[in-house]
Amino acid sequence: MKVLVAGGAGYIGSHAIKQLLASGHEPIALDNLYRGHRAAVPHEVPLVEADINDTELVAKALEQFEIDCVMHFCALTYVGESVERPLDYYHNNVAGMTSLLRAMKETAVRRLVFSSTCATYGEPVHMPITETTPQQPINPYGRSKLMCERILADELATDENFAYVALRYFNVAGCAADGSIGEDHDPETHIIPVILQTALGRREKITIFGDDYPTPDGTCIRDYVHVEDLSDAHILVMEQMQPGWGRKYNLGIGAGYSVREVIDAAKRVTNTDIPVETGPRRPGDPPSLYADPALIAEQLGWKAKITDLDRIIETAWAWFQNHPDGYAD
Ligand code: UDP
Repeated sequence: MKVLVAGGAGYIGSHAIKQLLASGHEPIALDNLYRGHRAAVPHEVPLVEADINDTELVAKALEQFEIDCVMHFCALTYVGESVERPLDYYHNNVAGMTSLLRAMKETAVRRLVFSSTCATYGEPVHMPITETTPQQPINPYGRSKLMCERILADELATDENFAYVALRYFNVAGCAADGSIGEDHDPETHIIPVILQTALGRREKITIFGDDYPTPDGTCIRDYVHVEDLSDAHILVMEQMQPGWGRKYNLGIGAGYSVREVIDAAKRVTNTDIPVETGPRRPGDPPSLYADPALIAEQLGWKAKITDLDRIIETAWAWFQNHPDGYAD
């Protein structure tokens, strides 16, 4: 299939492109390169430099490349930043969604795989999180993604030939197993890159954001899913999608690891004594979030292959060791 990968120069989009190529599809990247990296897109893949809010340019790309399906990864994704710059988040994530949908409608492209997030659930009381857990986001980022899900449902109600699947990611982690592409965020706030940059001596220490949570070791628990497993899920969804689908699936491994467990795993993998300090809680962090990924397993047969935390961190470590300055190397 010919697939427009919106946000194709970003962390997850670039891994999706790699897996699409490996499974015989034809990806075309679209990215405004605000936080994406040209070098993350392989030379043989066309890169349309455009903003998702430029409906005309997006429509032109959909037509020119005779696109069958869109994977939509473009988004601003930092919780803290979303609290400080909500309008940017609603403009980029929500207005961007409506712009993309208009372009798709104009050009009769009717299949969409959308990157949603477990942040749409907010702070659920019961674990694991299923797709029917109430969605009560607690920050503008989560709200912007939930609005996108609602817009998609409303759009589907107008056209039975439209089809979408919203994939609610848990904590995406790791890098391509062959070390060719990886994670390069600026600013970097995600725990695994921060720990590995500390192991490389690029940071002085890793700060644990709170050790007084009601969890076994007092630190927050998250579900870390490998970026290649996540990319595979997108391809599987795209290949099976039928007109009229409006499905939502959790993408996680179905188990949680605490911040301390992540740090211990990184110490084992890097064979480094990583300096650690304990600081206050980060506002907006729920104590524990992990998925029940049974629905997508039952309905489409997807299951994360890499569930071992050390293995996930090993793939990230290979990338960070070879690219301490990210794509600038
Ligand atoms: N975390 C931490 N120190 C850091 C970065 C993150 O203790 O320097 C914790 C954070 O509080 C959360 C978990 O690690 O419980 C995962 O955070 P991350 O920012 O990687 O992803 P998020 O869960 O916010 O999407």
